[in-house]
Amino acid sequence: MFITLEGIDGCGKSTQAAFLKEQLQQKKKEPVLWTREPGGWVHGDFVRTLLLEKDLRHELSELFLFVIDRCEHVSQVISPALSCGQIVLCERYTDSTRAYQIWGRGLPEEKVEDLFAWCSFPEPDLTLWIDTPLPVAINRIKTTRGHFDRIESETDGFLNRVCEGYKELSKRFPHRIVRIDGSQPTEEVSAQIWKVVEVHLSK
Ligand code: C5P
Repeated sequence: MFITLEGIDGCGKSTQAAFLKEQLQQKKKEPVLWTREPGGWVHGDFVRTLLLEKDLRHELSELFLFVIDRCEHVSQVISPALSCGQIVLCERYTDSTRAYQIWGRGLPEEKVEDLFAWCSFPEPDLTLWIDTPLPVAINRIKTTRGHFDRIESETDGFLNRVCEGYKELSKRFPHRIVRIDGSQPTEEVSAQIWKVVEVHLSK
């Protein structure tokens, strides 16, 4: 089973992925692989550094780097794990590219979708979209990380468009995207997630 966790920066993906991994292993005795994008493969840190720390000038460089990262991540990590019967928990995947690069940056949807189809990226079975209001997410980043990091350089307009993108995506892919109310306390968010995953496992 392929589960992705999505949402804006500071929405709580990593905390919830850790919780979910533990629950699946302890309560269900399931083998779980926890991974993330960008960077979840052997040389992924190079790509992550290029993406997050280097000044890229061409408007398509970011998109292509995310796609390269995903091609290797899928081939080297995600597909082999799924073939072995592991549950794959992946923080960010194709919906991040849709929300950030299509809605956020305004890249043409048709071309991005063609690229995805050409790369034959497997579709997740379940996507947990942690819908956290932007001010809450920003506040969390400031308190937990001490600074507002990479998205500090983005405008509110960009981040609002990313939020809007996730909302639209949940309407387009209702068969797999489940909205989780990320404004609730951490334990409450975990409880919502576990309820959804348990139902999904019993299908
Ligand atoms: O989720 P994580 O914090 O690891 O993401 C790293 C950074 O990459 C975030 O700041 C996020 O905004 C950015 N990102 C992006 N486009 C994507 C995926 C992530 O700009 N498609």
